[in-house]
Amino acid sequence: MPLTTEQQQRYARHIALGGVGAAGQAKLLRAKVLLIGVGGLGSPAALYLAAAGVGTIGLADADAVSLSNLQRQVIHTTADLGRPKALSAGDAMRAINPDVTVNAHRLFVTAANILPLLADYDFVLDCTDTFAAKFLINDACVLAGKPFSHAGILRFGGQLMTYAPGRGAPCYRCVFAAPPPAGQAAEPPAGPIGALPGVIGSLQAMEAIKYITGQGELLLGCLLTYDALKTEFRKIKLPRRTDCAACGGASENFA
Ligand code: ZN
Repeated sequence: MPLTTEQQQRYARHIALGGVGAAGQAKLLRAKVLLIGVGGLGSPAALYLAAAGVGTIGLADADAVSLSNLQRQVIHTTADLGRPKALSAGDAMRAINPDVTVNAHRLFVTAANILPLLADYDFVLDCTDTFAAKFLINDACVLAGKPFSHAGILRFGGQLMTYAPGRGAPCYRCVFAAPPPAGQAAEPPAGPIGALPGVIGSLQAMEAIKYITGQGELLLGCLLTYDALKTEFRKIKLPRRTDCAACGGASENFA
């Protein structure tokens, strides 16, 4: 479908950008991206994906906005306190770009609900903050053949990695194998520092945009780490494990 006059103005900088253009913008408008978690990481990712004109964005989160969220979860405002995050974030996204259809999924992902949830989407962002959710999202995306962006943040640092099926790249479980034993996995109450999720969540949005438009190289086969205190990024190359419990099956063996 051709872009309307308003869309030609709204997306003029994309349309003029070599490698994106009107065709790339049309791909963004047709794309369906699921964000699991609309907290620190999900806030900037949702704002940038909506602004860029990703046509359908799902928000899976059952939490409500609390005052201690607002130091870093920039999609929510003080007026949103107590509101479901999926609704608060949806309002902010529609205010930026009425082109975007926001699907609010007011749930926490579980083994029972995640596969039907993923089915409607092309790309997934793991914006959660628990190991249990991260392993669940990984295993479900591998099983369903869905590309996704993993990210994690803690105190003054973060990490990022992208998985896409059929490309020979490791999945999250190839790298981390299993959640830490109970007791070690508890989130510390301190942090993350403000602006840190802005850095990492924006990189997740960039991975989604690159995947949809087919531009550049995804962060496959390596873990990007960010040390905010040293302003240092590192890329650590990581192999796929052929004995991985998630992706070690026949579906990836050709890679
Ligand atoms: Zn794996």
